[in-house]
Amino acid sequence: MRLILLGPPGAGKGTQAALLSGALKVPHISTGDIFRSNIKEKTELGKLVSGILESGGLVPDDVTCEIVKDRLMKDDCRNGFIMDGFPRTLPQAEMFESMLGENNQRIDAVINISLDDSVVVKRMSGRRMCPCGKVYHVLSHPPREEGVCDSCGSPLYIRDDDREETVLNRLKTYHDQTSPLIDFYSRRGLIIEIDGDKPIDATFQDILTALGRESDGV
Ligand SMILES: [Zn+2]
Repeated sequence: MRLILLGPPGAGKGTQAALLSGALKVPHISTGDIFRSNIKEKTELGKLVSGILESGGLVPDDVTCEIVKDRLMKDDCRNGFIMDGFPRTLPQAEMFESMLGENNQRIDAVINISLDDSVVVKRMSGRRMCPCGKVYHVLSHPPREEGVCDSCGSPLYIRDDDREETVLNRLKTYHDQTSPLIDFYSRRGLIIEIDGDKPIDATFQDILTALGRESDGV
């Protein structure tokens, strides 16, 4: 089964991709992870990507597609994959489609995990970090004493990425980039809409049901 996961930051895409990977026995492919491992292994692509990212640029679509193509040649992708973070732009979606077409393959479904911007902001702006690595949330997982870590007693802080203004900017970028993708895959009848404002397991069951999969043995 060849799946693409779409969804705003904070919608739990990575979590659902990992659960689906276990249930469907196909790899979870995160382009962010591929970039990081290419950089770590100092491949030619890795060197190129790290240069671009260090200068604050965006990785060009053809480079991203090349990296994905390379990953899909590995044996574990024979029976499918769950794509997380790719395609991100319309040209990437078009290149991806012809890449798969060359091997007589196609996408089976595009799962769009939707979540209101207001809920994303509430989820992300409530997150509190401790230098020791513990993560809290003012609503869903508060520390015993406000602003103080339960395990080490350090004062908690808010990551720059989680500040409301930053979250709103990321959401705007996400909507700008993703709406053409949703149109692209809607025209092909591939979009499955999933409500991301539920507990992790309920969202997971909704996805399995939409895919026509029983949840037995998951
Ligand atoms: Zn701590």
